[in-house]
Amino acid sequence: MKQKGFVTECSDFIGRYWQIIIIVVAAIVFFTFIGYYILKNGRWGFYMKVQENDSYSAASAEVTNYTGKRAYLTFDDGPSENTMELLDILDEYDVKATFFVIGREEKYYDCYREIVERGHVLALHSYTHDYNKIYSSKDNFVKDIEELRKLLYDVTGVHAIYYRFPGGSANSVSKVPMSELVSYVEEQGLVYFDWNALNQDAVSDNLSPEKLVDNIMEDAKKHNDVVILMHDLKNRHTTIESLPLLIETLREEGYEILPIDENAPHVRHHII
Ligand code: ZN
Repeated sequence: MKQKGFVTECSDFIGRYWQIIIIVVAAIVFFTFIGYYILKNGRWGFYMKVQENDSYSAASAEVTNYTGKRAYLTFDDGPSENTMELLDILDEYDVKATFFVIGREEKYYDCYREIVERGHVLALHSYTHDYNKIYSSKDNFVKDIEELRKLLYDVTGVHAIYYRFPGGSANSVSKVPMSELVSYVEEQGLVYFDWNALNQDAVSDNLSPEKLVDNIMEDAKKHNDVVILMHDLKNRHTTIESLPLLIETLREEGYEILPIDENAPHVRHHII
């Protein structure tokens, strides 16, 4: 009996089953692509995954999926003597920002209201901002957040939902595991944000406006989505002075400047 050659057998096989072969190859290509996409973007790419190394420096934060260049100006620790001036500058440039505020005395209540009335985001930071107290127990942490939520609601009628942990979500001060506090915050329906760019105004109160902007842009060039940490504090007036240059520079670099909302990238230092 005549033996068929290997090549002939192969071409016979392909001739008979070519439709099935095409389907199998297409399926392999399709699932390889899907697998790659999931690995790259986290859980189905529905959220922004941010990773940061142990030093938690802004430079090492990485947002892994982008929809365009976006910058979020965030101000911690206010309100202060500077808040009204800060709001005027933002108005001048038609920019909306996010204020992670602390609990202040009655003379600052108008500042909380102005933040809301001028269309900015009033967000939670801490009532006391006393790290040792807040992070000494979960009870104290809960009490601090609750006190601030109540104050902001009583003064402005706003239920603030965005939150920033004092010292960030991966601080080394807390005696309570940060994962426990992160869970609590999420159970409360709050959404927390850290930062991946900063002007270093926490380090020194005498950096020039140009230097403050340079610090931010140095971090910003590593990211398409930039959450910028600045401080709204009495002795940080240079931060206010740097705002026009910062806004102009960000716009020149093609960043859209936005307040934090449900579409903002979850820039987070805490790794789940
Ligand atoms: Zn703070």
